[in-house]
Amino acid sequence: MPAKKKSTKPDHNSIWRERLRYFESRRDALVQTIRSFVEIESPSDDKPAADCMGAFLAGTFEAIGGRARIHPAEIFGSNLQIDFPGNDTSKPVLLLGHFDTVYPMGTLAKMPCRVEGDRLHGPGVLDMKSGVALMLYAVEALKAWHGSLPRPVTVFLVSDEEVGSESSRKITEELARKSAAVLVLEPAAGSRGAVKTARKGVGDYTLTVHGVAAHAGLDPGKGHSAIVELARQITAVSRFNNLKQGVSANPGVIRGGTRTNVIAAEATVEIDVRIKNGKQAAGLDRKMHSLKPYDKRCKLTVSGGINRMPMERSAGVAALYEKAEQIARQIDWKLEEAAVGGGSDGNFTAGIGIPTLDGLGAVGEGAHAVHEHILISELPRRALLLAGMIEEA
Ligand SMILES: [Zn+2]
Repeated sequence: MPAKKKSTKPDHNSIWRERLRYFESRRDALVQTIRSFVEIESPSDDKPAADCMGAFLAGTFEAIGGRARIHPAEIFGSNLQIDFPGNDTSKPVLLLGHFDTVYPMGTLAKMPCRVEGDRLHGPGVLDMKSGVALMLYAVEALKAWHGSLPRPVTVFLVSDEEVGSESSRKITEELARKSAAVLVLEPAAGSRGAVKTARKGVGDYTLTVHGVAAHAGLDPGKGHSAIVELARQITAVSRFNNLKQGVSANPGVIRGGTRTNVIAAEATVEIDVRIKNGKQAAGLDRKMHSLKPYDKRCKLTVSGGINRMPMERSAGVAALYEKAEQIARQIDWKLEEAAVGGGSDGNFTAGIGIPTLDGLGAVGEGAHAVHEHILISELPRRALLLAGMIEEA
């Protein structure tokens, strides 16, 4: 039998392998870029510092042909949009991320950016300065491979994600509406680097009890303790938990009273809630607002609400995951998906019905913690996946 004729056309797989090699050759440069981002501290609540970071990023993205536009913000850092034209008129893909971190100024001195084996450590390295760098390298690679970008790309980098995205949310949603899909460069889920196809919704509530103060020794019968009432309310709120259904309510911070010999006039609890779907969000919100005092002489006020609606695994989300999975398969990588409890700006874009895939950023551990790090060896294939998704999404 004649031997099977070898095709002269390079097969699909070999193109992807070549692309992977390209990113492997860029790996050290990518690590250097990530380091340069981490070494500019940018806590959400320090506007001058965050603005410095924003300006640096604007310059970095402009250097590869982007057009930067600063969206001024008053309290937090200004938000940064960078547009890249493509060689067709299709809708852009939106690359979404943030450059603020949870670490106060000066953290770098105690937690320096450093390489240890395969790990790159530093404040915000995983969440998510490496994700911002991946955007830069994926766009640059596509330009190198195609001569120009195959489609328009919008990068939006937010300054206040870690504190609720108040100043950026509207812009994020506006840009998402103009886009075919949203790719969020938040960290991957777990050590296997799964992308995120569902995220819980998040809410914040503050419950304040107004009681009646009295001298604890002279007039104990005249007081109505806000603290005692608050304790009962906290028990009531903790009954809202239904972990099996994915609903949780955590009274995380309490304050109240003035001194031990005074029956407390006021006490407060701050509650974080998580929900998996829109129905649970509405139900929990109703429950929070219909709390009643046990002691009729105490008054309750409830403020806050659901801040990020759940990112549900819609058909559009599932289709994006399928594309990602196919790209990964080209290099024999079995890309997994995950549903996670934390919220991101991806909740906003998925919430308004724009296909969104999250967790495309780096693989690592310890977001918001002293051991925060990424795995350097995972960077090339993450960059490859992102480049592929910009083409395919
Ligand atoms: Zn993040």
